[in-house]
Amino acid sequence: MPDELRKPDACPSCSGTEIRLILYGLPSDETLQRAQRDEIVLGGCTIWDEMPDWRCMTCAHEWFDPTDPVRIEWDEFMAESEREHREKIRKHREV
Ligand SMILES: [Zn+2]
Repeated sequence: MPDELRKPDACPSCSGTEIRLILYGLPSDETLQRAQRDEIVLGGCTIWDEMPDWRCMTCAHEWFDPTDPVRIEWDEFMAESEREHREKIRKHREV
């Protein structure tokens, strides 16, 4: 993603400030190094609609900010690909 999410100031659950960005997908070398430096958390390759963007290192709470412009754009993109996917399946069945 070209744009960066807004980093939350504190955990909404425990107000802790040890917060890491969760990155999804196959990690690049750079991403792996960042994970080893404890700057980010690897979220695995599975991507779903309500996936959290942030993890609190104090209480392990995971969440995302639905008002973040980058997040809104991402959710719209996900909804669009979901629609296209369903459309393909429907067309396939009609053939
Ligand atoms: Zn917390």
